[in-house]
Amino acid sequence: MSIEEKVKQVESVFEKLDFEISQFQKVTALHCKFGCGKCCFKPDIEATTLEFLPFAYHLHQQNLAEAWLERLEANTSTLCVILDATQSGAGLCSQYKHRGLICRLFGFSARTNKYAQRELVTCQLIKTEQKQGFEEAETKIEQGLEVPIMSNYYMQLHAIDFELTREFYPINQAISKAIETVLQYYAYR
Ligand code: SF4
Repeated sequence: MSIEEKVKQVESVFEKLDFEISQFQKVTALHCKFGCGKCCFKPDIEATTLEFLPFAYHLHQQNLAEAWLERLEANTSTLCVILDATQSGAGLCSQYKHRGLICRLFGFSARTNKYAQRELVTCQLIKTEQKQGFEEAETKIEQGLEVPIMSNYYMQLHAIDFELTREFYPINQAISKAIETVLQYYAYR
């Protein structure tokens, strides 16, 4: 499969997920606080290479891939390099449109526990500041409300490219690997 086709398929998984999340948010009224971005400050976020392929492809199209790779190589922080703490607006992701799968899932998706029950994976702020909504959402999920399941979405990426989803890396390493994948692909064309 060409890299363009792979990017298209990943983006189509993202679109489906974004739609499911918007439906979940409509029913539960759970939402991120305007301008928050606190979850991006977690120093140990992990991701797969494939989920950042659309971002890497976009950089390549803009002739920015090498510059971002250099920036990543020089980076010593474990915080995501895409995070822009100075940004004002809805959030702090400087590449919101091209963010990874974990960035989309966190807050409004569920994991399945060992009793096969679905548990909402969300942040402390939502749990405390929207306590009632959070508890109601949990009850609705127990009663069968549709919620994106994290593992299902990773399986969908897995079906697109096994190699690029086989391992989880610290987020900056996953972004670097995605950029290297795109650069290598075009180096031989
Ligand atoms: S890619 Fe964007 S949303 Fe994801 S962790 Fe980095 S700054 Fe946050």
